[in-house]
This record gives sequence, C-alpha cells and structure tokens, in this order.
Amino acid sequence: MPFIHVLDEPTINQIAAGEVVERPSAVVKELVENAVDAGSTAITVEIKEGGLSLIRITDNGAGIAKEDIPMAFLRHATSKIRTAQDLLSVTSLGFRGEALSSIAAVSQVELITKTSSSLNGYRYIIEGGDEKSLEEIGSPGGTTILIRNLFYNTPARRKFLKSAVTEAGYISDLMERLMVSHPDISFKYIVNNQVKLQSSGNNNIKDILYNIYGRDITKEILPLHYESNELKITGFIGKPMINRGNRMYENYFINGRYIKSNVITKAIEEAYKPFLMQHKYPFTSLYYEIDPNTIDVNVHPQKLEIRLKNNETVYQATVDAIRDILSGKEMIPKVTLTK
Ligand code: ADP
Ligand code: MG
Repeated sequence: MPFIHVLDEPTINQIAAGEVVERPSAVVKELVENAVDAGSTAITVEIKEGGLSLIRITDNGAGIAKEDIPMAFLRHATSKIRTAQDLLSVTSLGFRGEALSSIAAVSQVELITKTSSSLNGYRYIIEGGDEKSLEEIGSPGGTTILIRNLFYNTPARRKFLKSAVTEAGYISDLMERLMVSHPDISFKYIVNNQVKLQSSGNNNIKDILYNIYGRDITKEILPLHYESNELKITGFIGKPMINRGNRMYENYFINGRYIKSNVITKAIEEAYKPFLMQHKYPFTSLYYEIDPNTIDVNVHPQKLEIRLKNNETVYQATVDAIRDILSGKEMIPKVTLTK
C-alpha cells in the first residue's frame, strides 16, 4: 500500500478555507469584492452575531447564469482570468477562484441570483461543501448570498475567533475601508437589524470620510492631486494635527484595492516626518491609479499585499505629493494683522 495519496476535494477546500477565510471579516471582504467585480452600483451587507450566525450580501450586479452556479463553488473556478498571462494585467479584485469554494466548505450557503438575460432567478444551497439543491425562483437582478453558521463544521477554527462584538468591529473597519475605496458604489451596512453605515455612491469622497470620521477630522483634511506619466494619486491627507498612535488612519488604495505596502507606508511617514512627533501617524486616504502591468497582486492569499515593479517611483511620488501640500500655504498658521 502506498503511503501517499491526494486529498479529496472537501478536505482540500477546508484547508484552503483556513488561508482565505480565517474570520468573518475575511468572508465579507471576499463577497463584497465579488459584488464589486460583478459591476454592482449598490451593495448591502448585513451581519448578525459578528457574522457568525449570518452574513448576507445583496448586490445589483451581473448575477450568475444557471449553468455557472455549481461551477462558481468549485476550487480554482473563476470567470476573471484564463491563463497565468492574464495575471499580469488583472483589473478585477478577485482572480484566484478560491473564495466561494472555501466559504462553502466551512458554512451553510444560500445563493439567490439572476442575470439580466434570464427570466427567472435561481436558488442554490450548499452546506459544508455538499450541494443540497438548485431551484428556480423569482428574484430581482443581481445576487444575494447568505452565509449561515460560519465554521460550524470546523470547531477548532471557531474556537480561535474573538467575541461577536470584536468580530463585528473587524467587519465595521472593513466596511469603512470598502466605502472609502469605492465612492462610486452605494453601500449599506446593517448590524443586528440596525443600519450602521451608508454611502450614497455619488463619488463624493469627503462626504464618506465625514460619515466615518466625523466633522472634527474632515474639517482638517486637504485634497491631494498628483499626476505623472507613471501614476496618478488623488484623495485627501490630514493636517499633522490630525494624528494618532497607530496606523488606523493611514489608508490608501491601489486601483480600487485596499492593500498594505511597506513602500507607501514608509513614503507617507517620511513625508510627515518633519511635522509629526515620533510614533504619531497621520491621516491619509489616497487613491493610486497605476498601470496593472507594473503591479503583482498575486503574492498573498487574501490579496492584502502587492508587489510594485517601480518601488522608487511610487515612493518618490508619494513623498513629493504630500510634502507639496504640507509645506504649502495652507499649513502656515493664519496670523491676524492688527493695525
Ligand atoms: P474569484 O472572485 O477569484 O473569481 P470566487 O470564488 O470569489 O472567485 O467566485 C467565483 C466566480 O463566481 C467568480 O469568478 C464570478 O464569476 C462568480 N461570482 C461570485 N460572486 C458573484 C457575484 N456576487 N455576482 C456575480 N458573479 C459572482
Ligand atoms: Mg472572489
């Protein structure tokens, strides 16, 4: 008898689920990214018990055709890329084809979806990776996906989660970043039956920042605009007086994707250095538009990190763009002249 065997699909999916969806907020991230990729202009996210008992995401995007529904839940099944070559120019948020299979392996999933070319909608149920049913139902265009009892069949994973309140807090932080990163999408975020956050989708970034951070902060932020052949940076930065002891206010998005990049973090902090005390971190909400051919998004299972081809260019552009504003006249305290 040989010792070595290939694991079966449900086992493979459960293992992958550990990497892709380690907690409820990661599930919400993947599902909202799918809704964004589907071209939605309105996305509603509803959670109960920190996402453990229920996560419901409703979008008005393209929907999934009947024949594609079971396929979408297979591992490495994606409509977004075809070859490794496509990875070099990927513009969608997803491309790994791992989210739905991973989520379905560790929860009870109900999907309701309708494409514009189909007369009917469909309801698909899959639990712990086992297909239960696929039936025709009436439904508006777009997709609703319900995730119930996350990690119900992986008690070890469930044990590692924090309290429902803490998990809900992670999801709220994520929802804030999603709203800021997609000002053209109208989001609604509901926690335990109460609307907690909303955005209009009218592309007004300052309104969104106001909703999230409040008046005291938004009255002290300045618009930023930088453009060169290689990249464009827009958004807002805070005056140095708006700072805090951690990096929670330091947000930036590359081609609509919230990510962490050492290069950009260092550049931001370098630019603020003369204006801030040590261990104080500024407010930024920066939108980078960079040629997809010059970034590698496929370096992290949760796609939280990316690799930049031109580190130096992005670094210098960031420092210059911020310094320009911080050393400008807006920063000089207003002196009232007396006669
Ligand atoms: P990926 O996003 O990497 O392609 P997923 O497992 O997240 O992989 O989704 C698999 C496929 O299911 C997607 O490629 C897409 O075609 C389809 N899909 C998932 N969610 C939605 C949605 N909300 N609307 C339309 N299609 C979707
Ligand atoms: Mg996806």
